[in-house]
Amino acid sequence: MAKPKVLVTRKIPPPGLEIVSEYCDLDLYEGYEPIPNAELLSRIRDKDGLLCLLTDKIDKSVYDASPRLRVVSSYSVGCEHIDVDEATKRRIYVTNTPGVLTEATADLTWALLMATARRIVEADSFVRKGLWKHWHPELMLGHEVHDKVLGIIGLGRIGEAVARRAKGFKMKILYYDKIRKRDLEEQLGAEYKDLEDLLKESDFVTIHVSLNPDTYHLINESRLKLMRSSTILLNAARGPVIDQKALAKALKEGRIAGAGLDVYEKEPIDLDDDLMRLYNVVLLPHIGSAEIETRSKMAELAARNLISVLKGQMPPHLVNPEVLKLRPLSDVKMM
Ligand code: NAP
Repeated sequence: MAKPKVLVTRKIPPPGLEIVSEYCDLDLYEGYEPIPNAELLSRIRDKDGLLCLLTDKIDKSVYDASPRLRVVSSYSVGCEHIDVDEATKRRIYVTNTPGVLTEATADLTWALLMATARRIVEADSFVRKGLWKHWHPELMLGHEVHDKVLGIIGLGRIGEAVARRAKGFKMKILYYDKIRKRDLEEQLGAEYKDLEDLLKESDFVTIHVSLNPDTYHLINESRLKLMRSSTILLNAARGPVIDQKALAKALKEGRIAGAGLDVYEKEPIDLDDDLMRLYNVVLLPHIGSAEIETRSKMAELAARNLISVLKGQMPPHLVNPEVLKLRPLSDVKMM
């Protein structure tokens, strides 16, 4: 039996490619940059499976170009780059890689929180520029972290992992989510608040909701106005959850104290973006899950998701379970 044909849109870490090439006829895009759209549309034509990244827009045009496509496996937990509803209509399985990047992203969120609160990036640059002449009682004063109030927007996997770390800093934990999570409230000592109250009462606000139509610009100008002038806002979820222009304005006017961002409305962020000129902001290049071990686990999981579907087996993480009714796995099976 011929092997299924699969396009992988970037060189992912081992053992991802090894697993895919063991079972499939692999077509790998070798560029360092995202695959150009025209090339994606041309190379997907004869493919049964696609392993893509969050930088690839997988929409109707991709599905139109690939009549044989059975599975789209994303090397990410967020799936807003994929038109999942359209994939389901076309009986295409969509999978993602949650869980394996939870702790890494929670660690990064804490790195951002500490770096922003204690001005770590600014202090490093101060030393390197030779500006450090004396110890001074008011040199690089930052914000206290321990015993403060942490407001978590989205107490899912990553939000919960961030909350577990906050307990070590003796922080009071508030959270807002679509639904109350009473079991976690007890385990973490977390208190449910509506969004407005959380913004008013927190010293640190950290965003961990997925990006969807309800969370687009969830933090907008009027909600930023609810925050205290001493509050620090963190985002390691998805950029469009914050109205970035409104955030830059709030930071410039000193309406909030600082921001730590790993994600942006447009990535990479423009060099002339207002945020670039502000010193009370720490800017990272979307590296939430960027750990050697984590990226390997993501690659393995993305490959296993893909292979499972093509083998007619239930993948570890199916994003659109409704597809099972439209096209049973036995119908998808190719090996
Ligand atoms: P998750 O477990 O699905 O958590 C997301 C939480 O947000 C869930 O509790 C969800 O509730 C809640 N939520 C969704 N829509 C909401 C709304 N409109 N209002 C209030 N709460 C809402 O996902 P996760 O694994 O923690 O990941 C969270 C996000 O982090 C991902 O979607 C991804 O975009 C981002 N991420 C970023 C990086 C990075 O590199 N910076 C790395 C990994 C993940 P329900 O479960 O009820 O929908």
